[in-house]
Amino acid sequence: MSILVIGGAGYIGSHMVKRLVENDEEVVVADDLSRGHRAAINDKAKFYKGDIRDRSFLDGLFEKEAIDTVVHFAAYSIVPESMEKPLKYFDNNVGGMITLLEAMRDHDVKRIIFSSTAATYGVPEKSPISEVDATKPINPYGESKLMMEKIIHWADEAYGIKFVALRYFNVAGADPDGSIGEDHGPETHLVPIILQVALGTREKLQIYGNDYNTPDGTNVRDYVHVLDLADAHILAIKYLKDGNSSDVFNLGSSSGFSVQEMLEAAREATNKEIPAVVAPRRAGDPDSLIADSSKARSVLGWNPKYDDVKEIIKTAWNWTQKHPKGYADRK
Ligand code: UDP
Repeated sequence: MSILVIGGAGYIGSHMVKRLVENDEEVVVADDLSRGHRAAINDKAKFYKGDIRDRSFLDGLFEKEAIDTVVHFAAYSIVPESMEKPLKYFDNNVGGMITLLEAMRDHDVKRIIFSSTAATYGVPEKSPISEVDATKPINPYGESKLMMEKIIHWADEAYGIKFVALRYFNVAGADPDGSIGEDHGPETHLVPIILQVALGTREKLQIYGNDYNTPDGTNVRDYVHVLDLADAHILAIKYLKDGNSSDVFNLGSSSGFSVQEMLEAAREATNKEIPAVVAPRRAGDPDSLIADSSKARSVLGWNPKYDDVKEIIKTAWNWTQKHPKGYADRK
């Protein structure tokens, strides 16, 4: 049986595919390549290009391949873009999930691991945030992911499709071999932007606001290495295969770093000056997001290996230096 990775050409999905292949799993990737990169997909995975909102595309894939588990990464994920184009986010993210679950139901595929997000919590009522805390998204991206979680829950109730929803905090880093990494166009994420400045392909970092309710006034986030995240997905697959019931888990390092602290860590990790200026706040950003990941540790047995943001940044820096243009220089 094979594992279907939807969005396997994206940043997190491509790291997951590589990890699964290294574990000798049979892997099928589906991706529409609207945001992912063909060159990011591991050579040992079978690739289908298409959009999961297209039911005939999914039917063709499920008919040809013996899939027993779906890992679903394919969604739009940029907060500011979602504030400007909410309907695009609900159409792609929520619409894609509904069509996918219908196809899974009809082809008798009963397990899904779903990429959710800390953005489902909105402005947290306490810190660190645990899975039982209130979910009140403050942007359409987070709202779309919360809707997707709820939709899978009811698909589980009605059709027995078991799920694990993993609420990611801020994912960063790259495979240490430097073969794959983060490459969004346009880039909006903090770590790759800082590293583009370090490399000299971007002039300076804009710090989006220094008047937040945090110790140094800049936003605090919880950064987790992409390979630790991939490991959590592998544990989640095993958790469902062992017959456990559907559940939701936070994935973060459980410690917070401000934008200013990330900048300083990157200056140390790269030995570069990295010019920065304070710019206006970005829409949709809560002050601070820090995970309580104790449930993933105790229930899934998750044991993240990267507990130092400098080490996380170093793996991303290795990728950035090896591929200054990201995937643009690859086939
Ligand atoms: N950020 C920033 N400058 C940038 C990009 C991001 O100051 O050029 C800040 C952003 O406001 C947020 C943090 O860095 O507080 C992480 O943003 P990112 O977009 O990487 O992830 P998000 O938290 O939105 O998922």
